[in-house]
Formats: sequence, C-alpha cells, structure tokens
Amino acid sequence: MKQDLSRSMFEEAQGLFPGGVSSPVRAIKPFPFYTRSAKGSHITDVDGNELIDYCLGYGPLILGHAHPYIMEAIRSQLEKGWLYGTPSETEIQYAKKIRMYYPSMNVMRFVNTGTEATMGAIRAARGFTGRDKIVKIEGGFHGAHDAVLVKAGSGASTIGVPDSLGVPVDIAKNTLQVPYNDVLAMEEVLSAHKDEIACVIMEPVMGNMGPILPKDGYLKAVRNITREYDTLLIFDEVITGFRINMFGAQGYYGIDPDLTTLGKIAGGGLPIGVFGGRRDIMETVAPNGGVYQAGTYNGNPMSLTAGMAMVDFLERERVHHKVNEMGKAMWQSLTDVVRSMKLDYTVSGISSMFQIFFGPQPENYTDALKCDKAKFMEFWRHMLENGVFMPPSQFETNFLSYAHTKEDLERTVFAFKKSLGAIK
Ligand code: PMP
Repeated sequence: MKQDLSRSMFEEAQGLFPGGVSSPVRAIKPFPFYTRSAKGSHITDVDGNELIDYCLGYGPLILGHAHPYIMEAIRSQLEKGWLYGTPSETEIQYAKKIRMYYPSMNVMRFVNTGTEATMGAIRAARGFTGRDKIVKIEGGFHGAHDAVLVKAGSGASTIGVPDSLGVPVDIAKNTLQVPYNDVLAMEEVLSAHKDEIACVIMEPVMGNMGPILPKDGYLKAVRNITREYDTLLIFDEVITGFRINMFGAQGYYGIDPDLTTLGKIAGGGLPIGVFGGRRDIMETVAPNGGVYQAGTYNGNPMSLTAGMAMVDFLERERVHHKVNEMGKAMWQSLTDVVRSMKLDYTVSGISSMFQIFFGPQPENYTDALKCDKAKFMEFWRHMLENGVFMPPSQFETNFLSYAHTKEDLERTVFAFKKSLGAIK
C-alpha cells in the first residue's frame, strides 16, 4: 500500500503538534494515514487508498460519512447563521426529542463534547450531594478532565492515583475505582465510604475496552446499591446513546440513572455533549443553582441542527433495525472465522458495535489487559493493507453504519480471515 504522502505529512506534523497529532490515539506507528475525503462507509487517504471505515470518527457517524440528509440540514442552518449566543427554538425542539427517548433526562444542558458533559454531570452530582468523592469503573473512559483521568491503585476500591501528569494528587484521591461486572466491589466501596460518595459514573456497556457487556442483573444491582447509599448514578452514554438503539443502554436494559451524558451521535458528527437528569439535581446548575457551567458554543445551532437531523433520520428510517442486524451478521461471521481457524480469540459485540479480543472474552479491565495487544496491532496493520480501517487499539470499538453494504461486510470478513492467517 503506497503511503508516501501520509508519511511525509506526518514528518512535517512532528514540528507542529505534540507527537504530530491533535489527539493521542491518532498517532499510529510508524505514521497514520492522512484523510483526503470520506463518503458513506469509505474513507480515502491522501495517497488515494480507499478503505472501509469501522472507526467512523470514533462513533458519531452512524449514517456513514457525509450523509446527504445531515448535509442538507447543516447547509440550511449555515444560511441562517452558525452562532447566536442567544437561545434558539432548535434547542427546545431538540431537548424535547431527546427527553422523549431518554425520559430520565428530565432537564438537560447542551455542551460541546463528551468531556464537558461528564465534567458537568460530576460537578452537578457533587454540588447536589455536597460530597467530594466519586466512583468510576476501572478502564472506563469519560473524557480528558482531571476527575476521570485517574487509574486504580493497587487493587479494587482503592484510592485513585493520577493517570496523567498535571492532575493533582489531591483531585485524583477523590476518584475511587471498582472493576466492571463486580457487584460486591461496588457494595464494598459504597459502604466503606458511606456518606462520602457523590456519584458512580459508568458506561453501562463498556465501549472503551471493546464492547464488554454487563452480566445479567449487574446494572440493576448497581442501581439498587447506589439508591441504598444515596449515591447518584451517572450513565455515560456518550458512545451507547442513540447507538444501541434510540433509547440507549438505559432503555435497552431498563435502568433509570439519575444523570445521563450523551455526545457523539447526538451531534450528527458535529461537536456536542449533553448532560441531564433528575429535575432536583439539574436545578443546582447555574443560573438556577450554584453549580457553575457555561460555554460560548453551548447549544450552538450547527451542532443542534445536525444532531436533530440525525435523530429524525434514525427514527424515520428505523436505522437501528438495519445496522443492528448487520452488526449481528458481522460478529457472527467473524466468530465463525475464529472458530474455523481454531483460534482462542473472541469476537464481542452488541448492536452495531464489535471487537476482536486476542484472548478469552473479558469481563472487566483486568481481563482486557491480558489480551495480546501487540498481536492486535499486527492484525490491525494487515486489515489496513487489505483495505479495512479499524480503530487502532485493542481497547476501542468498531462501529457499523447505515452506509455499510453487504459487499463491504463480505470484503471485511475476507480481509479478517486473511489477516488472522497472516499473523498466526
Ligand atoms: N465518555 C465516553 C464513554 C467516551 O467514549 C468519550 C470519548 N470517546 C467521552 C466521554 C469523551 O467525549 P469527547 O471525546 O467528545 O470529549
């Protein structure tokens, strides 16, 4: 695969950006490909290689790239101006629509990224409860702000230590972590820190270590325990919202969190974040209450219009019906390949999300870490050579879109078999 232009662009970028990139996961070794354009399920690099895309901007593009319906919505909003700094009717319409599908989000705020959404939700939880500590799940990713850039200490439910330089120890110590799918650990941490924990923040389905699904009854147990200890439950549905189905993981599993964060698909591919939940909690957010949150681009008409067009289209065309069927076909075909080759790898999936684990099916972060990451990257490179772009990490999720075709799927399964064969 010829990649001369990408290679030289990356060399030039070294002098301009830390590590040559604007976000760390893009710094693929020895160099990433530079995108020229993208349409539907395909992404084309500056050297002219056309790839089937399962990264899809890390999740937002459930209709594929440059979908005409979203494009038209964006275009018509552009004509009317792209930033007002005042309220607009679109935010009322869109909030009502979101609340229809996420009734737990009774009152909400529009922000610009998933990071801002989780930051706002955590601050609201702390402000409402008057407590400082929070609990997150080991390996869970909620964006790049101080409270959640924390890794676990030596074992479950230990005090967190910063996962990044620049995060004060005094902040990280308030973030406790427990393993996913472990009810006992959750119970233990909440009882050991009774009256100290503002909230538990979690991805209901772990999307940031491949999809890892909750065990039967796990989410319900977490809901019950958090209620018992008067700790708020935040579902971070930045990935799963409008992805698993219209109702997100909370609808799929029938659990009402106290607060929810959305992002990605909710912006139709433009930057967005949303946090919202119980009225009494959200009443603490400024200007009504003392929890400060503000933003120049909050509720900007471009992101709202793109997001609302996305939700309209998903609803009208029953998109999840098709993409979720495709997802099932995909992970079943990939599982068949793994079995027929007698490999001890696992393909995990839910709705239109999937991932191959180079190891047994993980239940939590410790399990996921045991997967062979070097082998995954070798496999990833072969997939790219065979025309398939997957997110470049064992701990990311692949996404299907409405734009993927039967032919894309067949080519992908073929590439999958060839790539596994090449690294065996
Ligand atoms: N929460 C989750 C579950 C995410 O996956 C991400 C990003 N991948 C974020 C929050 C942060 O979102 P953003 O990158 O838009 O800040």
